[in-house]
Amino acid sequence: MDSALTQHQTLWQTCLFQVKQYTSEEVFTRLFKPLEVHSFDRNILKLRVPSKQHVAQLEQDYIKILIPIVRNLFGASASVTYLIPQTATSTTAASSRGYETSTDTRVIKNPFIIPGIKRVKFDSQLLGHYTFENFVEGDCNRLVRSAGISVSVNPGTTSFNPMFVYGNSGLGKTHVAQAIGNDIIQRHPNLKVLYVSANRFQAQFQYASQHGEISDFIQFYQLVDVLIVDDIQEFSGNKPGTQNVFFNIFNQLHMLGKQLILTSDRPPVELKDIDERLLTRFKWGLSAQLEAPDYETKKAILRQKAINLDIKVNEDVIEFVANNVKANVRELEGALTALKAHSSLMQKEITIDLARSIMRDIVTIKNVDITIETILEEVAQYYKLDMAALLSNSRKREIVVPRQVAMYLCKMHTKASLAEIGKVSGKKNHATVLYACNTVVDLMSTDKIIKHQIEEIERKLK
Ligand code: ADP
Ligand code: MG
Repeated sequence: MDSALTQHQTLWQTCLFQVKQYTSEEVFTRLFKPLEVHSFDRNILKLRVPSKQHVAQLEQDYIKILIPIVRNLFGASASVTYLIPQTATSTTAASSRGYETSTDTRVIKNPFIIPGIKRVKFDSQLLGHYTFENFVEGDCNRLVRSAGISVSVNPGTTSFNPMFVYGNSGLGKTHVAQAIGNDIIQRHPNLKVLYVSANRFQAQFQYASQHGEISDFIQFYQLVDVLIVDDIQEFSGNKPGTQNVFFNIFNQLHMLGKQLILTSDRPPVELKDIDERLLTRFKWGLSAQLEAPDYETKKAILRQKAINLDIKVNEDVIEFVANNVKANVRELEGALTALKAHSSLMQKEITIDLARSIMRDIVTIKNVDITIETILEEVAQYYKLDMAALLSNSRKREIVVPRQVAMYLCKMHTKASLAEIGKVSGKKNHATVLYACNTVVDLMSTDKIIKHQIEEIERKLK
């Protein structure tokens, strides 16, 4: 008996320790510290409490934190009862009754259901066309993509919890977040996956609070095994109620090993007006950035989208679009859709001329004169050299190669003669420039990295 009691008390200490992670110091000291274990018998954990008022306060705001922790440690069907001094009668935790049925969706109001329309099945709110298969991989998204796949293989059990994906608008956050959700449903059909935008969550919460349904709202979200919240930056600003309720839901789910996936247009550190407690939690797992696609990835995306749109687009048009559309995937798509519309409307083939004339309306096509000076500056900047070093006579490879690249680019992109290029490239003669150009041409055919570097600089120049 003694040792059993000790064991329960140890468990209770663990319980308290966990509760402490989710409450303020003040609340913990006032409401939780005074609780003592009386017994644990037939799945009922009896707690000594100082007063009835104490129970009332605990029940009102914190039972939702306490019960899942108790269940986690004492067993899934454990419930809590209080022993109040003087009267020494026990009262059953009122709101724990609600928890008894917490896996029964029928009794909880589902905020996604429009009144009057009955829907029994749990609806993930995901769009099926967002998949990993059609999410083109590139350097810009490799980390997010591979972490996303790990999460969908083992939701809730990797260290990527929460998985926080951030990046500028149009770079694929919604796509990848939904792809993770869809993939999880494929791999783990029993898991309840839910996708919601932060705005929608906020609207549902507002509705619930106006209609006295907050506890249904919270309980509904607690049923979820994988919660995806898109555009979490929308929680910024003056919405403490929403943030608070989200904080509680986040804690519950995280504690129970449920997977959270969050997206934002900026990294956690740059989120403004978001509760520090939430920000801390956002950083618990993995924060990974979606970056703007590089040239090759842009081309791969365009090729894939052309297939999806069922249009034939030649490689020169693909290159033209990739070169001229700003680094945003949504705009790349827009350009292709416009091409498709115009070509079918005018029954014309998609040629580079058509692309040029259409894209003039969509993007500003860069058409600047390239000078030797801009090339030298661009090269110096690219290789992080100062101009004096670039133009010096140094024989160090890390300087020689950029210098030769600069001379090659001047030859390719300006009308200057070899002698002129030599003159402004640090007093080299025309033979040196010619040698440099030939060396770079050779290098480009054998060294992929150099070739890639040169293409990148050329894009910057254009
Ligand atoms: P965000 O949510 O970051 O604003 P979206 O996920 O809505 O961006 O992406 C914008 C569009 O670009 C979507 O149609 C999406 O399918 C597409 N997209 C983004 N990244 C990729 C990618 N790597 N491969 C294929 N399509 C992509
Ligand atoms: Mg989005």
